[in-house]
Amino acid sequence: MVSRSVNSVAPSATISLLARENELRAQGKNIISFSLGEPDFDTPKNVLEYACNEMYLGKTHYTPSLGIQELREKIAEKYRKENNVSVNAKNIIVTPTKFALYISYLTLLDPGDEILIPDPGWVSYVEMAHLVGARPVYYKLNEKNSFQIDEEEIKNKINKKTKAILINSPSNPTGSLFNMNSLKILRDIAIENDLVIISDEIYEKLVFEGKHISIASLDGMLERTITVNGFSKSHAMTGLRAGYLIAPQELIKYMDNVQQHTLTCSPTFSQYAALKALDDNEDTIKMVNEFKERRDLIYSGLSKISIFSVIKPNATFYIFPRFNYNGKNSMEMANILLENLNISVVPGIAFGPSGENHLRFSFSTSKENIIEGVERLQKLI
Ligand code: GLU
Repeated sequence: MVSRSVNSVAPSATISLLARENELRAQGKNIISFSLGEPDFDTPKNVLEYACNEMYLGKTHYTPSLGIQELREKIAEKYRKENNVSVNAKNIIVTPTKFALYISYLTLLDPGDEILIPDPGWVSYVEMAHLVGARPVYYKLNEKNSFQIDEEEIKNKINKKTKAILINSPSNPTGSLFNMNSLKILRDIAIENDLVIISDEIYEKLVFEGKHISIASLDGMLERTITVNGFSKSHAMTGLRAGYLIAPQELIKYMDNVQQHTLTCSPTFSQYAALKALDDNEDTIKMVNEFKERRDLIYSGLSKISIFSVIKPNATFYIFPRFNYNGKNSMEMANILLENLNISVVPGIAFGPSGENHLRFSFSTSKENIIEGVERLQKLI
């Protein structure tokens, strides 16, 4: 009954872990969750009040499929001012970030085409390729190279079928940022081989050290970059599914067709929330300051546990230590932590072959939980 493409898709490790945790909680277990990547903060009140008010004023109907014009203009302005990318409203489609990626895949990739995916990289990049019948090809980001781009590695993976390279900086799961050198290597390769870059910038606001650079701001990249971004992580509003994509205008009309025949438009309420969120940097700054303190706490805690070797993440709310424990692989290790210590983490293998022997801890949880989690881990050792 099931199509080949859907049959080839594995469940999302991150989303299915949430269900397992909830089951264990229902059994009365005191689970500390380091698994899911969503801010544990409340959505800023001013954002909610504004969106609710708009709903009461009647904004509960369809919007144009591309999104409300005011929001598209404001997103373009943000990218011009903050990211140095010269776009206007015509380049923007308002759509949930995950769906923005899916629209990008559908628009660019025919069955059999190849897309380069970071390894380690977020769990859904690969499976979305399977969904559209394309072939995901991993490019390795080496921790010894601070997860920067290795030119030869990318060049070796390109062939006639390669259509696009996906990048994610700041990175889930490593918490690293691509430096200018990595971006220039990617730019040169993309231009030389006539490839599109899909740049997932969803963690751009959650940076502790260093600077996020949008690859679309580099010379020659505007016409071959699709940027996806959103408000889930920057404004703790994952459930509102508020995001957008930025693409060259000639792609927008095709992407709009996909949106029209699938989603129709982003939920109207979320679009108004997004409009307000674009004015609200204060809440994001507070959240980032707290994440930074937690990053320091979990980094110093895990660094003291002998089975881990830890790189300090410069961004996001993820830390991705390597472990060495009685020959266990990451799936076995995550199970040990869940069943024996009531700690939930994502096994590194979920992020690609180079993720093996790593665990992803999301420190989007209280300092008390971080301290308690580290204590439980110390007991195991
Ligand atoms: N992106 C987050 C994560 O990696 C949220 C869950 C998801 O969409 O996979 O945990």
